[in-house]
Amino acid sequence: MSSTTLDTAHEQSVAGARTYAIRTHGCQMNVHDSERLAGLLEQAGYARAEGEDADVVVFNTCAVRENADNKLYGNLGHLRQTKLARPDMQIAVGGCLAQKDRGEITRRAPWVDVVFGTHNLGALPTLLERARIQQEAQVEIAESLERFPSTLPTRRDSPYSAWVSISVGCNNTCTFCIVPALRGKENDRRPGDVLAEIEMLVAEGVQEITLLGQNVNAYGVDFGDRGAFAKLLRACGGIEGLERVRFTSPHPKDFTADVIAAMAETPNVMPQLHMPLQSGSDAVLRAMRRSYRQERYLRIIADVRDALPDAAITTDIIVGFPGETEEDFRATLDVVREARFSAAFTFQYSIRPGTPAATMPDQIPKAVVQERYERLVALVEEIAWAENRTQVGRRVEVMFADGEGRKDGATRRMSGRARDNRLVHVRVPDDPTARPRPGDVAEVVVTHAAPHHLNADDGLLTLRRTRGGDAWEARERGEVAPSAAVGLGMPSVGVPAPLPPARGCV
Ligand code: SF4
Repeated sequence: MSSTTLDTAHEQSVAGARTYAIRTHGCQMNVHDSERLAGLLEQAGYARAEGEDADVVVFNTCAVRENADNKLYGNLGHLRQTKLARPDMQIAVGGCLAQKDRGEITRRAPWVDVVFGTHNLGALPTLLERARIQQEAQVEIAESLERFPSTLPTRRDSPYSAWVSISVGCNNTCTFCIVPALRGKENDRRPGDVLAEIEMLVAEGVQEITLLGQNVNAYGVDFGDRGAFAKLLRACGGIEGLERVRFTSPHPKDFTADVIAAMAETPNVMPQLHMPLQSGSDAVLRAMRRSYRQERYLRIIADVRDALPDAAITTDIIVGFPGETEEDFRATLDVVREARFSAAFTFQYSIRPGTPAATMPDQIPKAVVQERYERLVALVEEIAWAENRTQVGRRVEVMFADGEGRKDGATRRMSGRARDNRLVHVRVPDDPTARPRPGDVAEVVVTHAAPHHLNADDGLLTLRRTRGGDAWEARERGEVAPSAAVGLGMPSVGVPAPLPPARGCV
């Protein structure tokens, strides 16, 4: 699920404007934060540019992954020569690793101009300006959020599909996770503000949204309404033009029956659930300080399958947590067999400094972790493939998307997501006028299943031109002025003051 994105988008022909590029590491929340950084920079007059040619290169970092710091300092070292050749160029480092390492970054890489944290994304343009005028590095890390990130201008990557933050931070204390230390306590956005943002996006052509939070099932804890997430899903059902609603990530501890009922009874909430398991062993879950147990996890899965028989369920699993025995590991395999995940993001446990698990006894030798990991991946693939084969012959609705199929050019296919979020590669007509555009929706029959995708090689049964496709086409033709591509952010009236999110469940 983790991604590294080099934003190499189209050069803007803004004569004389300084240019920027953003390199994003980590989760969907970082990807969304990078949309905000892009919006802030464009609002400040910068234009998007090719990677290292840019006048400003921003690293939006992740502290969750192993070796994240080595990778960052490697990247910074690589840019040093560029900076020596072009002293005018500026380098900024933000995100979770910046929040964690702070001044250490400019000590180890003194050619960095700006360091900012997870709580003060909005300060980036000012810090760049100040660094340029004062000719010295600016390190500014806030201890709590300055503005709810959704109030910042945003340059969204997709005109038909959008992330919407509902909460930031996390009140849990999973022992492998650095997120609460870096992102702070959960802070929920008011439902009215969330819905207003969605309505604004839909009016602009967005037809799919993904609600984002570290623990979406806890949504409402901050304003005293434990049923708030189910209500929010139902309210999304009333937004005309909003075709697909997804969310990530739920926590099994807080998953309640009203959310399952809302999923089942709200037609635009997609039959899909990504629910982190982490381990199938009760002893390991206890050591992870995750307060559900195997039985509860499987109960939720069973209830979801009862209510939404076609739901695709995916998960995150960590192998080799300190103290994990062979028996514990087998309990994880048992859950994988019973839950029948259509995909699982599997991770080898590694020490993350600053987390409680880092100093636990009984760290598992690397060779043991590797061997268990390979067994887990083999089982996950076997089940995912079997689950995907049940799709062959079915008629599914696909929403096409940019960048989903790497081989599309060679295979004469276009790719998109089914309602259950499965990736589908679809044979499309040669005639460009008969082809779908990203954002358009087609019905197809699945003809082939692989462990990680489906193919639909009998072509399109139906094709619906959508507002999202129109919005994509308008952007491609340059009919959307760069300034108009940047949303102004949402009003902050009534919004509590929380901080930007990050995924962190692995
Ligand atoms: S793993 Fe997820 S639920 Fe646990 S502390 Fe981290 S962000 Fe919160």
